[in-house]
Order: sequence, then structure tokens, then C-alpha cells
Amino acid sequence: EDQLNSVAYHLGEFRPLRECNINIMTHALQYGTMVFGGMRGYHDAETNNVFLFRPYDHFRRLHRSSRIMQMQPSLTPEQMADIALELVRRNEYRCNVYFRPFIYKSELKLSPRLHDVADSFSIYTMKLDDYIDTSRGLNVAVSSWRRIDDNVIPTRAKVAGGYANSALAKSEAVQNGFDEAIFLDSRGFISEGSAENLFVVRDGVLITPPNSASILEGITMRTIIELAKDEGIEVIRRDIGRSELYIADEVFFTGTGAQVAWVAQIDRRLIADGAIGPITQRLRDRYMQLVRGRDTKFKDWAVPVYAS
Ligand code: PMP
Repeated sequence: EDQLNSVAYHLGEFRPLRECNINIMTHALQYGTMVFGGMRGYHDAETNNVFLFRPYDHFRRLHRSSRIMQMQPSLTPEQMADIALELVRRNEYRCNVYFRPFIYKSELKLSPRLHDVADSFSIYTMKLDDYIDTSRGLNVAVSSWRRIDDNVIPTRAKVAGGYANSALAKSEAVQNGFDEAIFLDSRGFISEGSAENLFVVRDGVLITPPNSASILEGITMRTIIELAKDEGIEVIRRDIGRSELYIADEVFFTGTGAQVAWVAQIDRRLIADGAIGPITQRLRDRYMQLVRGRDTKFKDWAVPVYAS
């Protein structure tokens, strides 16, 4: 009820979510021709302000996704970010918020194609604290589903249709009693989780797959790499073999939703002693400060909504 009364942005205007509906013939619904983002706003109890985390980078990525899908958004990333900021004000949010911006092929046209189908931009928001329980270590499994290859559905475009792949893996994992899945890519190397990038720590070195491993170019991943470098931790991007997971010192997921979520067990094997590792702890603590604008070095990434 509350959710339906929240203010969203649809067809060029701010309106209550209950009025933001689409026709059943919409191209995006029939063919998954929609690209989306996922962004957070963090409430800071001390100042009672809300900080959007890297909004310009999120909307730049959305624009890049739309280019891959031959869309022509009429708004710039900066204009989209302004709408997101305005949505916090119009909803009078003083809490943690999640944003779901997207560009979708909005015409009622029959045929799976990209050209000559008009698109439209919308955003809805919701209150959101944890998406994944980060108070304990996750129990995860390598999925029997392979990650879609970049030559099947472009993995660096967040395309709605590609998320059938994530849904298959997530449900398989949860219905088998696990918290989350880890995908192998088409070559058999580690790629990512259903909606998270993955990091491994071995002998004090932070390792994450290269962009060629059919992964999304995660904004949290890029943030964690910057933070690690600033902490003097060596970062290597290279292919990771499946069995490297079992002997890693630390494993964690990153994502807008998941934030920094550590893994305690993979395929019934404890990671180290099954407790949160020191590098994960250090990076997670710094990340949770950073998103509320409390990191002097990376202050620009946390954009305040309210004037004071
Ligand atoms: N991989 C996939 C498949 C995702 O859906 C997400 C969530 N957007 C991520 C990684 C993490 O990306 P980000 O840190 O930008 O949220």
C-alpha cells in the first residue's frame, strides 16, 4: 500500500507508483528488451541526510547499456541523476533507499529486434536495508547453470532478458538450501553471483575476474578495488579456477544490493575457518563509512540529497 503511494518517475513525469503501468503488448515485456540499474541512497543518522552512492557512474553505466541495446534515451546521465535526487525529496525519505532506474522498449511492436522500437525511461524507489544478510557468512554453491556469455547476451549491459539466467541460478541455490550461487563462465572459470561480483583473497592478494569473464562491470567492485589499492592491498584481475575457491583465505561478494557480503562455505567446504577474514572486514568497514560520505578521500562518491 505504502509502496504503491510512493512517488516514481514514468513517461516524463513524477507520479504515484499506482499510476505507473504498461500495456501487455509492450516490446520490453515480450522480449526482455529493457536495461536497468540498481542504486542505493544511504541515510546518515548523524546528519539525518541521505547520500546517493555514485549516482553519475550508475547513470553512465545505464547509458552504456542502452547503447548496446540500440536505445536513444532523451535524458543525459546528469539529468537522470537529478531525477533520482528529486525522488528522494518528493518521497521525503530519511532512510536507506533503493532505486531501480530503467530504459525499456516501450512500443507495442511484434518482433524481437532492436532497431525502430522507441524507448522510455522510468525510475521507482523503495525503502531498503539489507538485501542479503551480511551479519553472518553466506553458504553458497557453484551453480549447474553457466553464466550467459558476452556473445549470447552482452553481460556488461544490464539487460532484463539476461536475468532469466540469474533467476535460474538463484532459485536452484536457494531451493537446494544455499544462500546464493556462483556462476562459472562458458570457459569454466569463475564469473560472479546472481547479482554480485566476486572477490577471492589468497596470501594477502585480492583477486577478481577480468572483464573478459562475462561479468557485469560492477560499481561496487570498482569501488572495492579503489579502496583496496588505497589500503596498500595488491589487487590482481585474472581468471579464477573453481578449486581456487575451496582453498581461498577469504571470499566475498560485492554489489549495490549485497554491499560487501562474506562467504563462509562453498560447496560444503569451509572457507578458511568459516569466519570473516581480516581483509574483507577492513574493506567492508571502510565501504560502509564511505557510502555515508564519511571517507575524506572518496567523499565525492557520496552525493548528499538535502541541503543540510
Ligand atoms: N553482477 C550482476 C549480474 C549484477 O546484477 C550486479 C548488481 N547490479 C552486480 C554484479 C554488482 O554490480 P553493482 O556493484 O554495480 O551493483
